[in-house]
Amino acid sequence: MADLPPALSTPSRRHADANLDGIRVQKPRRAAPADAVRPTRAEVNLAALRHNLGVVARHAGSAQVWPVLKADGYGHGAPAVARTLERAGAQGFCVALLEEAVELREAGVVVPLLVMGGYYGGAYEEIAARGLVPVIYDVSHLEGLTRAARAAGRTVNVHVKVDTGMARLGVRMDDLEAFAAKVERHPEICITGLMTHLACAEAAPSASSELAGYTELQIARFNEAFERLVRAGVKPRVRHVANSAAILRGIARFDAVRPGIAIFGIAPIAAPSASSSELRPAMRIRTEIVDLRTIHAGESVGYGALFRAARTSVIATMPVGYADGLSRHLSNRGHVLVHGRRAPIVGAVSMDMSMLDVTDIPGVALHDEVTVLGSQEGRLGKDTISAGEIADHAGTIPWEILTSISRRVPRFYREP
Ligand SMILES: *Cc1c(COP(=O)(O)O)cnc(C)c1O
Repeated sequence: MADLPPALSTPSRRHADANLDGIRVQKPRRAAPADAVRPTRAEVNLAALRHNLGVVARHAGSAQVWPVLKADGYGHGAPAVARTLERAGAQGFCVALLEEAVELREAGVVVPLLVMGGYYGGAYEEIAARGLVPVIYDVSHLEGLTRAARAAGRTVNVHVKVDTGMARLGVRMDDLEAFAAKVERHPEICITGLMTHLACAEAAPSASSELAGYTELQIARFNEAFERLVRAGVKPRVRHVANSAAILRGIARFDAVRPGIAIFGIAPIAAPSASSSELRPAMRIRTEIVDLRTIHAGESVGYGALFRAARTSVIATMPVGYADGLSRHLSNRGHVLVHGRRAPIVGAVSMDMSMLDVTDIPGVALHDEVTVLGSQEGRLGKDTISAGEIADHAGTIPWEILTSISRRVPRFYREP
């Protein structure tokens, strides 16, 4: 071991990993801003996050707001987002994975953390020791949680998930009473919350009435589930259903709400009210032009010669590719901003680089800034590339665009 370089041989990073009872929960590692050489970076505007929390809170009325920070805070960097929102008054956070909850606790987050994914891999000690709130829906969770609660000398609060129509996770409606009866036999486990997840909250009420009616059906089933649990002797204190779309529509508020994408400034529905259009996208991705050339009519660009110039063209290269999360579906399709004006992506997006046609943008020079996502104001105008626009080109949804930004892109946090 002695001749290993320090980064490999020292145990100094290990303290960052949870290591309780032999089960190690590894923390993800991503590019650190201090290590960034390449000009490609994601800038996260912390004031926009606080602003969006305020917009959501207004819609939530008296319900508590528990932002959803799964998938590294929708790609924004969960620890920094959590610390910002906690200081701004968020009353709890939701994550998908136990690993994600551990990461937030280690970042110093003290508000309740709800672990929604339901997979604990036997690491129940982590839950009890760190005071996490697991979502359960399966009696197989009970034994492990009970053991962990006894070992920690405290009861473990859990939220129960009921399947009202997602058919993903959750106790089936038919099994509610049997499930409650089994939980009752475990006095170390206390059901403090009841939740479900909506499948079609994004569908406009004017859309196919079947889709719009589906949300009502899910809410009706949820109310029924609550009443049946109460009759079975369980009274969850906190009921929560609403995702961003439901919150912005003002439906399914209950006692707490779980906003994800709206916190990051993206309205998942066509703005139904003035204040949801007030959301401010929190992330901007920028880079710089690293190469510039003039090609003749008939010359082609990139892998597969996917683009062929119809005129003498100025082609700029930017150091962002699909390995950074720029979908290859943007080949010959997407746009970026240079000097405040749109430039088309030409040719195939490659792993580390992409090419732009800047023929119609006079005076482009090496190192000029390129905005890949977000707004740019420059000498030729002001424009915005939204996650929604990129998603449309890529045949997906803004959620996937944000969560695909890879760990190779360092996140920089800005207080404007
Ligand atoms: C992701 C998720 C949310 C947040 O959804 P958005 O549409 O991003 O607001 C809420 N609840 C559950 C269970 C989720 O998985």
